[in-house]
Amino acid sequence: MVRVCSAEKKKRAIPHRLISGPEQRHTNCVAGEFLWRSAAAAAMTVTAGSRPVWQPNSESSACEKCRRHFTLVFRRHHCRGCGKVVCDKCSEHRVILPESYNYGPSKQRVCDTCYVTLVAIEYQLGLEQGKVVPPDYPAIRTDLLRRVNSYLSLPEIGWGSEGDHNGVKVSMRSIESSPVSCIRSKMLIKAPIKKVMEVYSNMDVWRNWNPYVSSRTVEQVDGTSKVMTAVYEFPVIDKRDSCFFTSIMDSSTVEALEDHKGLTVAAISVDHPLCPVEKGMVRSDMHISLSLLEPVDDGIYTHFTSIVHSDPKGLLPPFVINAFLSRGSDHLRGMAKFIEAKLQS
Ligand SMILES: [Zn+2]
Ligand SMILES: [Zn+2]
Repeated sequence: MVRVCSAEKKKRAIPHRLISGPEQRHTNCVAGEFLWRSAAAAAMTVTAGSRPVWQPNSESSACEKCRRHFTLVFRRHHCRGCGKVVCDKCSEHRVILPESYNYGPSKQRVCDTCYVTLVAIEYQLGLEQGKVVPPDYPAIRTDLLRRVNSYLSLPEIGWGSEGDHNGVKVSMRSIESSPVSCIRSKMLIKAPIKKVMEVYSNMDVWRNWNPYVSSRTVEQVDGTSKVMTAVYEFPVIDKRDSCFFTSIMDSSTVEALEDHKGLTVAAISVDHPLCPVEKGMVRSDMHISLSLLEPVDDGIYTHFTSIVHSDPKGLLPPFVINAFLSRGSDHLRGMAKFIEAKLQS
């Protein structure tokens, strides 16, 4: 296998649409998230096109992906795509590898990283050959903008009284023609917007305060927008996942933000060819997930408002909804603590 030694090599190995366009200079942030970490190693392997040398069992006491330690019952497996030692849970997918791998037409075990990369390469080829229809991003963007304006303009009067969940003020309201309530959480984070955004927009660090959510970038659309998928784990009930288009916007695009100095990160559910609904997963419907960040006290602090109107789908008893609510405020408080601690260190 060719060793990855320069950014140029990496770029050449990866489908061009994922790095072309205005996001090219964003290699350190969201585009880079997908490019360097998850794709580079596997893409090199796949495009280099030969069967990798397997990592010796003796070299690995823990799964290369989740870092859980192997035992007699928690067993080692090899990814046929990259040759790394991984656990069963981190290599659930089976794919037909390129001919040069010499596995023939039978499906082979691959790790999650290789799977994501292979599917992305297939998507890219499909786009180039006109076999795959990409999401209608201009229409999605228009819809998102419409919803952001409408949710930011909701009158104060419909919101229920604010309950204080350890510093996070939570209130709910019903939305016409929707069976689920809209939840608004507000809190003060003792850090400037820039710091908050740095942490908040990097979903990889979310695990620091919320072990129940994992996410990845599906497609970088442009410098400020991308499609992501997130998996949420709950006690008792089935896992939920969502596939959403998310964008960072300020008052230059959002009418309702005119009187605000802040910015908003908003997301709505989309269908994406790279996000099929997987077995054992329930796809939730995100009408809106909106975070409004506003500077207070001359910009040294940030007022953080989260508005979430999302249908978790499936029949859920009230105690689950309540658990969801408290988890939402736990999530915000955890994030604030993380950011404030980071600022002090
Ligand atoms: Zn693992
Ligand atoms: Zn692999």
